[in-house]
Formats: sequence, C-alpha cells, structure tokens
Amino acid sequence: RTRSSDELISAEQPVLAHNYHPLPVVVARAEGTWVEDVEGRRYLDMLAGYSALNFGHRNPVLIEAAHRQLDRLTLTSRAFHNDQLAEFAESLAALTGLDMVLPMNTGAEAVESAVKVARKWAYEVKGVPADQATVVVASGNFHGRTTTIVSFSTDETARSGFGPFTPGFRIVPYNDLAALEAAVDGTTAAVLIEPIQGEAGVIIPDDGYLAGVRELTRRAGCLFIADEIQSGLGRTGSTLAVDHEGVVPDAVLLGKALGGGIVPVSAVVARREVLGVLKPGEHGSTFGGNPLAAAVGSAVVGILETGEFQRRAAELGVVLRDGLTALLGKGVVGFRSRGLWAGVDVDPAIGTGREISERLMREGILAKDTHGSTIRLAPPLTITAEELESALQALERVLTA
Ligand code: PLP
Repeated sequence: RTRSSDELISAEQPVLAHNYHPLPVVVARAEGTWVEDVEGRRYLDMLAGYSALNFGHRNPVLIEAAHRQLDRLTLTSRAFHNDQLAEFAESLAALTGLDMVLPMNTGAEAVESAVKVARKWAYEVKGVPADQATVVVASGNFHGRTTTIVSFSTDETARSGFGPFTPGFRIVPYNDLAALEAAVDGTTAAVLIEPIQGEAGVIIPDDGYLAGVRELTRRAGCLFIADEIQSGLGRTGSTLAVDHEGVVPDAVLLGKALGGGIVPVSAVVARREVLGVLKPGEHGSTFGGNPLAAAVGSAVVGILETGEFQRRAAELGVVLRDGLTALLGKGVVGFRSRGLWAGVDVDPAIGTGREISERLMREGILAKDTHGSTIRLAPPLTITAEELESALQALERVLTA
C-alpha cells in the first residue's frame, strides 16, 4: 500500500533531522513547470528548486543526456580521466568567457573551493604574508552552510551555536562601494559577492555597483568572485547576472541549474592565473567532475548556448514585473525583480510569508517565503505567459481574500 501525503509527512518526523520546515505537500512526479503530489493534485512550481530547475523538471534534452551517460559510465574519480570532462570544461569556460574550470558538486563546495583558491592566489601571486589573507563579503549574504561559510554570514539563525568560526573575513554593507573601498587593503585576496542576493529577498544592487566592484578590485589588485549559484544560468534574462553590467569577474561560482535538476554539479570558473595556483593533491572531490555530472553539465551549457532560456526569462520577466506592479497597494507593499526572479514584500497585516505560501499552495501554486513577509518567485524558465498570469492571479486572490 502506498502511503498518503499525511502519512509520509508524519513518518518523516521521528527519523529526519528537522533542519527544514517544508510546506505540507509531498511531491511524487513532475514535468516541465508542474509537479504532482502523492494524491495526484497538480501544482505550478514557482520555486524551481531554488533555481536548480531553471530548464524545467525532467527537461527532455537533459534527461536524454543523463540516460545516455548512465548506460555507459557514471564514476571514475579523478584518479583517472573520463571522456566527458574535457568537453564540459571547454564549453563552460567558453560560455562564461573565462579560462579554467574546477568541478565540484554543491554550491557550498564551490564557495569553499573559491575561498581556498583566493587565499592561495593571495600568497603565491599577490604576495600577502602567510595566513594574513582576507576575503571581503557583504552583509545579508547567503553562500551556503559549511562552518567556514557561516563564519561570514550575518544571519544569526544560520550561525548561532555553530562556532568557533573561521577568521579572515570582513563584512561590509551590500550595495555600498565606499564601504567596500574602505575594507579592501593589501591583505585582501578577494571580494566575494552575489550579483543579486537571492536568499536575502532578491536584493538587486544599484546600477553601476557590479561595474564599480570590478573597477575597485582591479585597482586594488584583488580578485572579484561572483557567486552566481542562484543568479546565474539564465534566471535573470542573461547567462550570468553580471552580464547586465557587462562585467567579467575573475572567478564565477556556479551550481544549482548546472546539474539540470538531475545531479549536484557546481564549479569554480576562473582566469588561468587564479585556478592555476592549484597543484596535484592540494584540492579535490571524489564526485567532482564525474562523467554523469559532466555529461549533464555539458548538456546544460548546450541549452544555454542557444540563448532560448535567457530570452524567455527576459521576455516573461516583463510579464512578471507588470503583474507585480499591478498588485502594488493590493497586498504587495514592494517588490524587486529581474528576469523570472522576484522578491515580493507582502503587507505583514495580511500574513507572514509562510502563511501566504500556505495559502498559495491551496491555490495550486508552490512558492516559498525568504525572510519575514517576502515571497520569492522563481519559476522554471519553461513557464508560459498564461501559467505566469495564473500564478499572479492566484497571488492576487490570496492577498485580497
Ligand atoms: N550560493 C548561493 C548564492 C546560493 O543561493 C546557495 C544556495 O541557496 C549556495 C551558494 C549554496 O548552494 P548549496 O545549497 O548547493 O550548497
């Protein structure tokens, strides 16, 4: 007998760590923009696995690439070469306009790897005295959950109880070039920022900020590392969010959608001078660069090379922005959006973000709050204009009921 949604939710309780508070929906199947629960109820996915499903659930091109690879070779470790990795690295470097790729698995691993590489670059190339390197980050950041990464988080829930913390980080306000300038000095290995802060509520910096960070880091002789794990790979209407300002960082961190929603795939993509500091034995990962990941990753890059999803995100982003503009004053007190990505601030008198998300769920829309009364909307880029309109209508019903 298959268990019901309620039974499955109850069954998790005693055996699964409580580090999440999921909406009470148990997904059993999905295709494109739609998911279906155990009882066969259908929902429009307006979260897309925190942007890991940019190309839709079970995208046929990606599923085909995965199937093909599953039937040939899945894992070698990096003790040997595999026949999929060269193409993945070549295509990803070309897509981003950078030189070299360090393949990892999760987003947090890409961030950790970038911090290590930046430090080594600082000692070996820049000439910072041993163990003095600093990395400048922004308040409100979200880069993952490891002990080093939460060391420079400003979110007490993410940090509290997990010390002692890793030293060597300086935190400045986001979107503040003067504060960044003041924090950067001869010890600075890198400035690490999200071009748009996703978990903070889709916070978009002022025009010119990213170009300013590029200029400032170039002048200061430190690296600019852009964490595009959530913002990258089509979400904002361009391949990378930094493309909106025509900026090329020294290193770009990718994850989430790089694995097509099928396997965890992340990467540090950087200039040769930066990733060139790594020598055999100094860094690695058993699964990083495995042939299944590389095959799916190459297929993801192939999809992005066509520009189709970037275009869809840009065009439908106008529908999203116009729809949200129409809801201003009708329960929406403010919003920020770029491409198919929005942080929507709901009037707290109507409900918390959690309550609004639960009401949306009952309307057949899956979305998730970020902080307080902010709802994040980030559907698969496969969504149609009609589906997007229906999600906006559901939001209006929920806010004005
Ligand atoms: N960096 C950014 C900007 C993210 O949004 C996330 C995840 O939400 C991460 C890093 C961490 O990725 P992962 O959960 O795969 O470790």
